Amino acid sequence: MELAKRYGGQTPSGMVRIFQAIEEMTSAGNPPLNLSIGEPDFVTEPDIVDAAAGAAKEGFTHYPPLPGFPDLREAVCAYWERHHGLKARPEEVYISVGGLHAAWLVFQALLNPGDEVLVFEPYFTPYADQIRGNGGVPVPIRTREENAFAPTPDELRAAATPRTRGILLNSPGNPSGRVLPRRQMEEIAAFAEERDLFVLSDEIYESMVFNGCHTCFAALPGMKERTVLISGVSKSHCMTGWRLGYLIAPANLIQLLCVNSTFQTYGVNTLAQKGACYALNTQDAKVQERSAVFAARMKAVRERLDTMTGVECHPAEGAFYLFPSIRGTGLSSEEFAWRLLREAGVAVVPGNAFGSTGEGYIRIACTQSQETLMAAMDKMESFTRSLAQNMPA
Ligand code: PMP
Repeated sequence: MELAKRYGGQTPSGMVRIFQAIEEMTSAGNPPLNLSIGEPDFVTEPDIVDAAAGAAKEGFTHYPPLPGFPDLREAVCAYWERHHGLKARPEEVYISVGGLHAAWLVFQALLNPGDEVLVFEPYFTPYADQIRGNGGVPVPIRTREENAFAPTPDELRAAATPRTRGILLNSPGNPSGRVLPRRQMEEIAAFAEERDLFVLSDEIYESMVFNGCHTCFAALPGMKERTVLISGVSKSHCMTGWRLGYLIAPANLIQLLCVNSTFQTYGVNTLAQKGACYALNTQDAKVQERSAVFAARMKAVRERLDTMTGVECHPAEGAFYLFPSIRGTGLSSEEFAWRLLREAGVAVVPGNAFGSTGEGYIRIACTQSQETLMAAMDKMESFTRSLAQNMPA
């Protein structure tokens, strides 16, 4: 069948290629220890499942309102005000099929052909394809580890052109695990204002900050009207499979998304919305508890990484990823990740899957039990030791 030219040459990303290899190894009866996927190992809390099942029994089995159920949109507002001081109205909330689809819808609604979006490298892999897929041009800005993987004002200015329309922000960051300090957020805000740019702020890991604190970009003075905040319950509430995300944005964007949904999805799964509404209103203590578990795992894994020859890891600040440098091993990111998978049975994602700045790094998701993580560290330690032994003197 002849495929659309705009997707000609589209191939799976470096991250998806690893996921595919894991599937193959698993179906061949040889599953690796999987530290590659950004999905909590915890299942959804049973009372959330009961809330969704109860709603089904009560008859919530029909099409939902296009932007989402009013009680869920209110729960989203209450959650962000309670945790991050953001004041939003339900008319400024749109419920989406996960945070991933929220970003796609926003680029679809905001970008004109050739519009440029500044993306800080390393970035969550799908974003460049999403921008390109909606006629835009991703403009990567190479960032540095010591600068929390964010550009300086001079670097922002150097990357901007008259075609720049927006900035993509992601803090706590995937893959870096870095949390942007408020001062750096304020510099970005001043730049967005100066150039009249929109800011898509992906804050899906807001509940997982171990060092410093989360700054909600839309809550910075003057930023709400130019910001689209993206989040969801996948990570915070261990609900990846429910495919439930949302965005908070100016009401005219929400209105356009509702129109667009009449020829796209016609709303998001009613039962998932009911589960998410209950989750956002009732689970703060559980979210905090799990966040502490992720923090402890990351600390333990980082301690192990730092003893390995050729590996160096900055401290974890947020999300559930570590992004150690493996430069000292002499291997590229791809060589390291693929050899670690094939020779040691441990799956991680090569850093270059997140843009060229990620070369020399790997991403480790601490989304497995402590026991599995430590078993994976044992294997990785032997692997790096054998690399060091075979390195030319
Ligand atoms: N943004 C970031 C930075 C992510 O890491 C992810 C998931 N890996 C998402 C968005 C999408 O999450 P979901 O679609 O499950 O809500």
